[in-house]
Amino acid sequence: MIKENLDEIRKSIPKDVTLVAVSKTKPNRAILEAYEIGQRIFGENKVQELVDKYEALPKDIEWHMIGHLQRNKVKYIAPFVGLIHGGDSFRLLKEINKQGKKVGRVIPVLLQFHIAQEDSKFGFSMDEVKDMLESSEFLELENINIKGVMGMATFTENKEQISDEFRTLHNYFQVVKSHYFKFNSEFEIISMGMSGDYPIAIEEGSTMIRVGSSIFGERS
Ligand SMILES: *Cc1c(COP(=O)(O)O)cnc(C)c1O
Repeated sequence: MIKENLDEIRKSIPKDVTLVAVSKTKPNRAILEAYEIGQRIFGENKVQELVDKYEALPKDIEWHMIGHLQRNKVKYIAPFVGLIHGGDSFRLLKEINKQGKKVGRVIPVLLQFHIAQEDSKFGFSMDEVKDMLESSEFLELENINIKGVMGMATFTENKEQISDEFRTLHNYFQVVKSHYFKFNSEFEIISMGMSGDYPIAIEEGSTMIRVGSSIFGERS
């Protein structure tokens, strides 16, 4: 069913929305099924699993780290990761920069904002981001490329609330872009929307959705 699911989703989303196929916990053969019909961007949330899959699978796959990333594990993915969605603290960004420098890469990162009403979700507040972006220390980080924002809505049936939270993230994106990245055309990604809420996210301006179970089936 993977091919059919993927096909359905692709047909239903606008062309300028990027689909990250979230393959966490799923075996390599499931990833290859999606790969066979052209999917090249996959998302994982565990460093070890990401490294194992990177090593085993075709090298033209673009691997995204979508989960919370511990600083001591950045070094394992720095050589190959295509985008880190969970840039959720200044200390983490500094570590990504350090590991990028070591391997001679500029690593693409998103600023993860806390938009949900749940404590469990990681992310910056707007004030924290402003403080960081205005600090001289931040300007010295030459081995990261901030490409946009990411956020997760509250896990709820309340569509109004989900819309509100995504709208907030879109607004944060615009504020950060206009104040700090006005002349940077690479600051363009709004990563929001998962299997349960990506249609709402797209309505609210998402440019990148992260979809797992609707493609690969439920995780056990
Ligand atoms: C697991 C996960 C997803 C995908 O979730 P589904 O509900 O399976 O689509 C998206 N984003 C993050 C950060 C995740 O951890």
